Formats: sequence, structure tokens, C-alpha cells
Amino acid sequence: MDAQVGQPLKAESSRNEMSRRTGPRIVIIGAGVSGILAGIKLRERGWNDFVILERAETLGGTWRDNVYPGVAYDVPAHVYVYSFAPNPAWKTRYAKGPDIWRYYHDVARRHGVLGHIEYGKGVESAVFDGARWTVTTNDGESYDADVVIAAAGRLRDPKLPDIPGKETFAGSSFHTARWDNGISIKGKRIGLIGAGSSGVQVLAAIAGEVAHIKQFQRTPQWVFPVEDAPVPWWKRLAFRLSPSYLRQTYQQLLDFSNSRGALAFETKEGRAERDKVCSDALLRIRDPELRARLTPDYDVGCKRLVMSETWFEEVQRPNVSIVSERIEKIEPQGVRTIDGALHECDVLIYATGFDAHAYIRPMELTGEDGITLDEVWSELPLTYRSVSIPHMPNFFMLNGPSSPGGSASIVGIVETQWAYVDQLLSQVASEGVLIAPREDKAREWLAEVRERASNSVWATGGCQSWYLDHTGTPAYDAVTLPELQQSLAAPKMEDFEVRQASQVASPVQ
Ligand code: NAP
Repeated sequence: MDAQVGQPLKAESSRNEMSRRTGPRIVIIGAGVSGILAGIKLRERGWNDFVILERAETLGGTWRDNVYPGVAYDVPAHVYVYSFAPNPAWKTRYAKGPDIWRYYHDVARRHGVLGHIEYGKGVESAVFDGARWTVTTNDGESYDADVVIAAAGRLRDPKLPDIPGKETFAGSSFHTARWDNGISIKGKRIGLIGAGSSGVQVLAAIAGEVAHIKQFQRTPQWVFPVEDAPVPWWKRLAFRLSPSYLRQTYQQLLDFSNSRGALAFETKEGRAERDKVCSDALLRIRDPELRARLTPDYDVGCKRLVMSETWFEEVQRPNVSIVSERIEKIEPQGVRTIDGALHECDVLIYATGFDAHAYIRPMELTGEDGITLDEVWSELPLTYRSVSIPHMPNFFMLNGPSSPGGSASIVGIVETQWAYVDQLLSQVASEGVLIAPREDKAREWLAEVRERASNSVWATGGCQSWYLDHTGTPAYDAVTLPELQQSLAAPKMEDFEVRQASQVASPVQ
């Protein structure tokens, strides 16, 4: 009998049971944009013996976690879709967070993925026994798998700053990715720590309804003005009636997004036009003293470019203050800066970003011969082409370490990575093999990535950012989507160790 969808998949199935199944038994970790994609693609293959383990109570990753006012995606909506599921219904040029969440939920439903997801399942470990994986979740349940696909996301775990006195604050406080809708901010005095994409979106969205907002800005950010606009009804109708028009729009935006995604590694001359747009936009800040404090002293694109149109006006409201003095501590009444000033507030919002270098951790991974992920990653998160890890056979990742960064749409990146992993899965299924990258090839590849990124503006632009790892080197590959597509077109099998495992993934019938 086939394994029941949504039920724990029991270990110790016999070779005979496996041969009746539709494809290898697969555990996918995470039901965000990447995990949903993996589920859809497995079903397209007719492989139904998989489960998606999701630690939260619903799917959607980033778009489930980030529900702060103003949350939106600054890549044009019509390209922030799976290539096979264009969306004629976007209401705005840049999609709002809840609309994006609905899109991914809807696609997952239409493609029959929802029934494969088990919620409240934080993966704690995955152990390879020489043939197969056993994945254990925080409720003690074990899942047996031929293949594990980690789609755990990257900007996932909120980072709270290490500011003394945080716990003494008498009002309400929360991180932007843990927004508390039970707390009204209307008419309140708000302290907002952080001036990245989330901080800028929050400020622009709430400044008009709060008594006062003080944004603590440790480093100014370049803001690229992008104007949002509703998609008129007739255009939505045209998209619905003409799939080719919708596809053409997708392609045009993809080309545009690819060129913008290359911002980080263009030459300084190549970036000049965008630099000028950003510095010209700052002239909209009328008070020269405020403008000076909002002007970065590093190159555009060094930190992830913030995009907004409304911020330029909202930040100049009389009830908005930008506080540039360093924070000394947090006290019950508010935030104390090093100049001795106490900035009183009722609600304190941490727009302080994410631990961008946790990757699949804190999950514990034990691969062949008992080698652990901590051992393989003792120096750097060593992967081969971001999708596989030496000594971890039949373990694959989407949006793993060293995936391309910049402002390109992540959907195109994970679709490209999937197409590559899919080719390896074909071999796993048809030949019953274990596949892991050779360690020397992974090291070679990682050295190439780090060399490439060392010329990017992330490294040379004169700033600190979450693009940089603990060694100060960019942790992202400086390639465009077309370059990624080319490099991942077909696996070079000589870069992998492929061995037979009689108990594993018997040829699919
Ligand atoms: P972020 O870009 O990492 O910004 C964190 C902010 O918090 C920075 O201004 C940082 O200052 C500040 N900060 C951190 N610790 C601090 C401390 N101890 N004291 C004072 N300030 C402190 O985080 P984010 O804004 O959440 O954005 C993260 C990423 O998510 C973005 O870069 C983007 O990729 C993605 N995102 C995208 C969108 C979108 O529309 N596409 C929207 C939101 C987020 P420093 O600069 O000095 O470190």
C-alpha cells in the first residue's frame, strides 16, 4: 500500500514496497516558496511519496512571517511568480505581502501540494545510515527517506540586537517578522530600530497614524525610488484573456530584473546611472541637515538596495525623527542614546534583520561515516553549487549557501536550482544510486564563488551588511540568473561521487 500522504512515513520499508511506490521517498524541509516548488515538481513527475515538514502552522515562509504594515515585494509582481504559474490577478505593480501569500497558497492548492504538508514539524536532525535518511522532528516523530531536500529559507530567523536592557522595556516590543497585530500602534509613540528594507517599509506605512516615530538609524541606506501603482481592471482582464500577453510581460520583467540583479557586480561605470538616481532622489529631502544624515558614505548596492517611493515624503513628516546617535541601552521608558537623551516610546519595533548565515541550522545533519554538518562546515558552509553538500548523499538544497544574491527574484533562482537537482533525482530513481558531490570539487567551486564575489560591490563598496560572512567575504554568488542557468544546465557527473546502494531508491516502475 502507498504511504499515506500527510502521515509520518515509517522506516524499514522493504525493497518490494519501494518498487511499488511512485518515486523515491522524499522529505522536503520547509513549505515556503522553494519547498512548495519542490512539491509541485515532484507531483509533476508523478512522484507522490513525499512529505513537506513545516515548523510553523501554515505555509508561505517569508510571506507568512512578515505581516508588518507596508510589507510588499520590491521586485515587480508579475515576475515574482513561478514561471509555470503566471498570475493575471495582481492588484498592484509591486505586490503586497498578503497578496503574495495568497498567490503561493493558491498555487500550492491548485497543484495538490497542501495535502503533503505536515505543520508544527521543526526538523531537529537528519541522519544518514549508509543507505537512507532518518529525519526527526521536534515532536519526536521520525521520517524515513531516500532523499532529503532542504528548502528552509535564508532570511528566516529574526535577529534581535544585543542592546543592554532590552528585557526591561515597559511597553510592547517585537521584531518586524513577528509583528503583533494584537497591539494597536495608532496614536502611539513608536521607536523603530533599523533602517533596512523592513524599517523603511514600516516607517512609510505607519508614520501617518502614529503620534510620533523615532527611527534609530545606525547606518543610512541608499533608497531607490520605485513607484507603485494599481494594475487597472482592463489590464487584469487582458492578462486573463491573453496568456501570451501575460507571458510576454513576465519575460520583459524578468529581463529587467536580471539586469537589475547584476547591480552588485557591475563596474562602477555600469552602476553610475543607478547611483545618480539614488543621489538625485535624496534631493527630495528638503532639510539639508536631515538629508546629510540620510546620505550613505558607501557605494550604492553595497547593502541590499532599499526601494520605496513613499519613504521620501513620509520620512519628512513633522512626527518623524531620524535618530543617528548610537543606542546605549534600552530602559523601561524607551531608548537611551549615547548623548544621554532618553527617547520615550510606547512600542518598540525591531527592524533589525535576520541571521542570514544560519542556513539549515540549527538542524543537525549527520552524513556518511558519521560525518556531521558542523565538521563539513567548520570553516565555511561548503556546498557544491549551493545545492549539495560533500558527504551528504542524496541530500539537496534550494536557496542554499552561496546562492546568488542581489535584487534578483529568488523564484527564478530556485527554479533553476530545481531543474539541476531534478536531473540528479532522475538518476537516483532510475539507477538506485547515492549521489554526493566530491569534496575537492566543492572546495574548488566555493573558491571560485568567493573570488567572483570579492570583486562585487558587496565586498568593495565600503559597508557592513548581511551579505558578508564572519570572514568579511560575501556569502553570495555574484552571477546573474542567465549565468546561473547556464552553469546549472546539466550536472557534471564527474564532480560527484555516485555509488550503488541496493536498498536505496529501487528503480521506479
Ligand atoms: P537589514 O537589511 O539587515 O537591516 C537591519 C537594520 O537594523 C539595519 O539598519 C541595521 O543597521 C539595523 N541594526 C541592526 N542591529 C542594530 C543595532 N544593534 N543597533 C542599531 N541598529 C541596528 O534587515 P531588513 O530590513 O529586515 O531586511 C533584510 C532583508 O530582507 C533585506 O535586505 C531584503 O533582502 C529582504 N527584504 C526585502 C523586502 C522587499 O521588499 N523585497 C522587504 C523587507 C526585507 P546597520 O545597517 O548599521 O547594520
